Amino acid sequence: MLIDNASLLIAIAFSAAALMGALLIGWLNARQERYLAYAASGIALVATALAIMGLRNGAYDFVVVFLPNFLLLTGFGLIYAASRLFRDIQNSIRPAVIVWAISVLALSAPLVAGLSGPGLFSLNAASAIFMMLCAREYWLARHEAPAALVSSVILYLLSASSFAACAVMIALEGEMVLTGTPENWAETFNSIMSLVGLTGIGAITLTLHHARAARVHRHEANTDSLTGVLNRRALFSQFNENDIVPELAVAMFDLDHFKLVNDRRGHAEGDRVLQVFASILRAELRGADIAARLGGEEFCVVFSGLDREAAKTIAERIRTAFAALAIPVGQGDAIATVSAGLASGGAEETFASLLSRADAALYQAKRSGRNQVQLAALRLVA
Ligand code: GH3
Ligand code: MG
Ligand code: MG
Repeated sequence: MLIDNASLLIAIAFSAAALMGALLIGWLNARQERYLAYAASGIALVATALAIMGLRNGAYDFVVVFLPNFLLLTGFGLIYAASRLFRDIQNSIRPAVIVWAISVLALSAPLVAGLSGPGLFSLNAASAIFMMLCAREYWLARHEAPAALVSSVILYLLSASSFAACAVMIALEGEMVLTGTPENWAETFNSIMSLVGLTGIGAITLTLHHARAARVHRHEANTDSLTGVLNRRALFSQFNENDIVPELAVAMFDLDHFKLVNDRRGHAEGDRVLQVFASILRAELRGADIAARLGGEEFCVVFSGLDREAAKTIAERIRTAFAALAIPVGQGDAIATVSAGLASGGAEETFASLLSRADAALYQAKRSGRNQVQLAALRLVA
């Protein structure tokens, strides 16, 4: 070997410490991403364990065997918890606690009895299991960023196989009491995998964090913060005003006498009514439809692949569902209602023209007494 195992372990510890710093900074900038804090703490414990192993200089008593291996298992437990939180922020970390507790027991019971062989066998077997469990979590999350996550899965599986190889070698040698660190090809493979695995997985975790942050910012930039539907900018980035849109139907919705709700029941209640209306849009629309808040109490829905009649049926459903909630506006027994204007694209019609015809139909709905859906006049083709 070009470099002795002790120096290699210390080098890995240093590189892991640098990675831990990078993950910690990532977490400080995005506290809600708890997986970064778990991964950073896990890597810190693994780095400490490796440094102790590198520095033990031939000593092989209970403390220098138990302490680093206990830290290693605790670090792997945290890294597994991080993988569960990465996949789903609501995920429970209980499986990580359970596997950690069992693995610590399987390590310490033989060590206390003076049997370092079975103790180290348990350590390697438990480490392989932790790595496989991490691989499973990232595999289940692979749709988020396939290339990065599948690379991560491969690194975890290689690390798992290196720990499994160490366990097999210890079992084959069959020694109950070890007097020093085992030296065989599996241990070398394991050291190399620790270096490649820790740095590779750490770097991928950072990349994933940045990709996720960029996605969150993009989502926020396109979403109306009060109602959660798209905002005006997002709508007009999907449909250019000059786009020709023969296959679309568009409905403009405007809440009726909304100023009254604000004046009589307060602005906060007005906001809540806007949220209720948006939740009706979400419930009634199909996945292919697009809802956006254009501003104030005005919403636009784009139906794709529906003719006027089919789109009108859905618009009517939205109108009646809102009225059925009978939200008082604060004047007599008047309730909150909505009016809509609907137009469908004609040959060579632009998105801007479609919107303005839907707007004209909405104006008609208001003039005809509100709480209704009006169809726009068919476009005259020159
Ligand atoms: P109409 O039936 O003719 O549509 O009458 P209206 O009162 O709904 O129409 P108008 O355009 O006069 O009033 C719209 C009101 O919407 C005025 C404004 O205070 C309110 N509004 C606009 N944006 C918000 C918001 O984000 N939250 C709340 N609570 N109110 C808003
Ligand atoms: Mg209004
Ligand atoms: Mg309005």
